[in-house]
Order: sequence, then structure tokens, then C-alpha cells
Amino acid sequence: MSCSECSNRKYQLIFIRSQKQKQIKSFEKRWNIPMRQSASLENFEIHRTVGRGAFGRVLYVLEKRRKVDYAMKVMRKEKIVRTGQIKRVILEKRILLAVVHPFLVNLRFVFKTNSNLFLVMPFIKGGEIYGYMRTFNMFSENQTRFYSGQIILALQYLHEMGILYRDLKPENILMECDGYIKITDFGFAKRLENKDKITMSFVGTPEYMAPEMLIRAKRLSGYSFSVDWWMLGVFIYESASGGLPFYGSSLLNLFNNIVKAEYTIPTHFSVAITDLIKNLFQVDVRSRIGSRKNGVEELKTHVWFENLNWQALLEKKLPTEFVPNCTNSDATSNFAYFEEEPFEESQTEEFVNEFKDF
Ligand code: ATP
Ligand code: MG
Repeated sequence: MSCSECSNRKYQLIFIRSQKQKQIKSFEKRWNIPMRQSASLENFEIHRTVGRGAFGRVLYVLEKRRKVDYAMKVMRKEKIVRTGQIKRVILEKRILLAVVHPFLVNLRFVFKTNSNLFLVMPFIKGGEIYGYMRTFNMFSENQTRFYSGQIILALQYLHEMGILYRDLKPENILMECDGYIKITDFGFAKRLENKDKITMSFVGTPEYMAPEMLIRAKRLSGYSFSVDWWMLGVFIYESASGGLPFYGSSLLNLFNNIVKAEYTIPTHFSVAITDLIKNLFQVDVRSRIGSRKNGVEELKTHVWFENLNWQALLEKKLPTEFVPNCTNSDATSNFAYFEEEPFEESQTEEFVNEFKDF
């Protein structure tokens, strides 16, 4: 390396570091001034349900004045209180509000009514990547690299902001009309604010959970960002093969296979993807790529990502093999059908104290 290259590289690193500092500062600002009641239900024309989850539904809505479409997550207060999820829901709102990244969904409006809580986000028209995985059976390794590269950049950002995502699965990965992805659902996400950056809670979707979330002794001593890299492994495996790496005849059987990292490699997998999967499915977190000494940089420079231009990917300058059909006159054509239910409203405001921070 010549001296001029030396100093260029030095300035490049200083530039990256200062950009990161700026990103963290603006995240902190949004994190510390939570938005309250920025719209009301009357501002929206409600069309139909496009998703259903544990605490309510996600609706496709149109903002009346500007005719902009949005996804509106509606959650029933009573159900949240009954299941002891108040803190979790307030955290979901706070995280959605603070994140700004090209591959993450964020919050546009938030409000509550007497009986419900509302999170309004940009509507991601292409639908869940889950549906496309089922339609095509599997993606090519090239396309899998395109999607997982975006996931890595999004997780890198979240981890730098101190946020553990914990719910990486194809149902939570949406596709934009340009073929790039957006990750939604911060329902299990958590900001690790303690010195050791650890948490102990038992949450997640069974097939995607990491061993350290399942082994009681390890969970009790705390787990950290490494669980997201395990889940990335499950995504890469599922995307490039069409099947899950870990399954079982019962939950116990499934968990046993996860903690022993028992999976088979499909015969069509390349040597490079096989090596990456092996490095992601390391039961010992200190041996897991992404959580080793060089962190995410080691993952990004793994041979399977050799020809991926990370900056071009971040700037959405790379071509994609597939774009969803967004030309249908029905904006929700890429979403499954759900039976509609009117949301019930009480005459008086419920759980005022419990949701004062929402
Ligand atoms: P939780 O685990 O917190 O109960 P959930 O799984 O019920 O969450 P989400 O994953 O946030 O809820 O949303 C459910 C579904 O709604 C998603 O899988 C997706 O299909 C759809 N959806 C969510 N956000 C958007 C969005 N911004 N644009 C389009 N569709 C969305
Ligand atoms: Mg979800």
C-alpha cells in the first residue's frame, strides 16, 4: 500500500465513523422524544385487512386528504393488558419511530382510541417475501444473496443503535415494488441498554430461535445480538432451499435439533453457501460469524458475498432478478385474504394509565 492510499483509507475510516456517530445521534434524538397522537382515525379511509397477528390486524388504508396509502396496525388494548404485553407494545412504537434505514419500515403516524392502539406505516405493496418463497419454491443463491445482503445491512444498523430484532422470518420481510425489501414487525425487538448488552426473555418464532434462547442456563445468563445472526442463517437456508433447516415432530423435538444444530445441507448448495451456513449455525456464540472478533465485517467479507457491492446495494443500485407485480388496480393484490371484523370501541377511554406513554 502506498502512503497516499494509506491516508485515503484513514480518511475513509474517519468519514465512516463520523457518519455512524451522526446516525446514532439522530436515532437518540428520535428515541428520546416519542411522538404522540399525530393523527386520528377520521383521517383514514379503511379498505381491508392485509395481515393478522397476535394482538390485532394490519389494515390497508388511504389517508383521505393526500390520498396516500398506508398500512395501519390496530391492536386491542384489552388483549394487550390481559396478556401482559403493555411494555412490549410501547417499545414497538418507540423503536418504529426511531429507526431510519432504507430496508426497515418505520412509523408515520401514531394514535389511540378508547379501545385500540394504532401504528401507521408506509404500505409495502409487494407483500411478504414468504408468499414468493412458496410460489417459486426457492430463490437462486444469487437472489438469496441480494435479500440477505439487505437484511445484514438492516441488522447492522439496528445493532449499532443497540437494538436486537429477534423476529427475522419471511412473514416479516416485505417486498417493495422495485424488488428491494423492507423489514417490518418490531414486536419482539428490544433496545439493550445495559452495559453487557444482554437480555433473558423467552420470545420468538420456534423454528427460527437460536440455541442460546432455548438452553435454560444460557438464557438465564443472558443472550445478545448473536441470535439475529442465527436467524439470518435460517433465512438464507430457507430462501435458497425452500425448506426449514430445523423442524421436529414436536416442539421439544424441534428445540433438541436446534440446540444440537442438527440439519442437513441440500445437495445443490454451493461450497460457499454451505460454509456460510455452517459458520452461522454455531451453537457457541463466540464461534458464530457476525459475533466473532471482527463482528459484521467478517460476515460481509465471507467468500459467498465476494462479488457483492455493499455500497451499491445500500443505495439500491443493483439489479434484481425479480420484481413483484404492482400494476394491479387493486393495491392489495399481493396480500392474502382475511375475514374482516369491525373493531369494537368502548364509550369511554380504557386503560388510560397503562397506555399513557403510547
Ligand atoms: P406481533 O408479533 O407484534 O403480534 P404481527 O405478526 O401480529 O406482530 P406484523 O408482523 O407487524 O404483526 O404484521 C402482520 C402482517 O401484516 C405482516 O406479516 C405483513 O403481511 C403485514 N404488514 C405489516 N406491516 C406492513 C406494511 N408496512 N406494509 C404492508 N403490509 C404490512
Ligand atoms: Mg409478524
